[in-house]
Amino acid sequence: MIVMKDVHKKYPNGVTALNGITVNIDKGEFVYVVGPSGAGKSTFIKLIYREEKPTTGIVKINNINTSELKEKNVPYLRRKIGVVFQDFKLLPKLSVYENIAFALEVIEESPRNIRKRVMEVLDLVDLKNKARFLPSELSGGEQQRVSIARAIVNKPEIVIADEPTGNLDPETSWEIMRVFEEISERGTTMIMATHSKEIVNKMKKRVIAIEDGIIVRDESRGDYGYEN
Ligand code: ADP
Ligand code: ADP
Repeated sequence: MIVMKDVHKKYPNGVTALNGITVNIDKGEFVYVVGPSGAGKSTFIKLIYREEKPTTGIVKINNINTSELKEKNVPYLRRKIGVVFQDFKLLPKLSVYENIAFALEVIEESPRNIRKRVMEVLDLVDLKNKARFLPSELSGGEQQRVSIARAIVNKPEIVIADEPTGNLDPETSWEIMRVFEEISERGTTMIMATHSKEIVNKMKKRVIAIEDGIIVRDESRGDYGYEN
């Protein structure tokens, strides 16, 4: 479902972030992306949701070459991919409900379906009772659960998370991981960049380690492999 062939990425300022990445990720896999800061993890993730295009090489998502995708078709690709960020990126003036409904309103779902679907995902992340709250009225863990709800409300085939627990304490991080596990069990492909040794070592999933823009390790039940 995600295929990269000899992908190189050089940013306009001359920095080479990726230096020959070849990888296959199948439907339903759960993958951790690890490696030192500056290794290229975020760039790897941005290539998947087509925030960036490779300088050379091929990135295919569901058999669509992202370099050949027309601008007007990018939103269709993005609908298949939910993205979760370290800093949540919620809209501060909208309620929890509105932050999530927004993702559906732009694709012109009926009001009835929107309501049903938003309440379903709020139930999944256990925040039904806070639908009317503003993001600023929630704890960090709750805000991250809202951002996960927003990411999955379209039923994407792929969920990508870039350091989703980076701003959260260990206990809250485990709550977030339980939500990702549940999303994964429903058949969604999960890709998560992380610096959490505890999470990676406990979960025993596929681990892709990137250093200096290349994959140095790819193990099916891997460990974090760094001291922290
Ligand atoms: P990681 O997520 O592993 O920390 P990144 O993919 O963010 O790594 O960065 C890889 C390299 O690319 C770093 O040297 C970083 O400074 C550089 N880089 C990342 N984004 C940009 C950008 N938009 N423009 C220029 N350089 C960038
Ligand atoms: P944490 O310890 O996880 O950071 P907080 O102490 O920030 O949690 O929040 C605990 C509870 O209080 C949460 O359920 C949150 O929704 C609620 N809460 C926090 N700040 C506010 C606020 N400004 N207004 C209303 N409720 C709040």
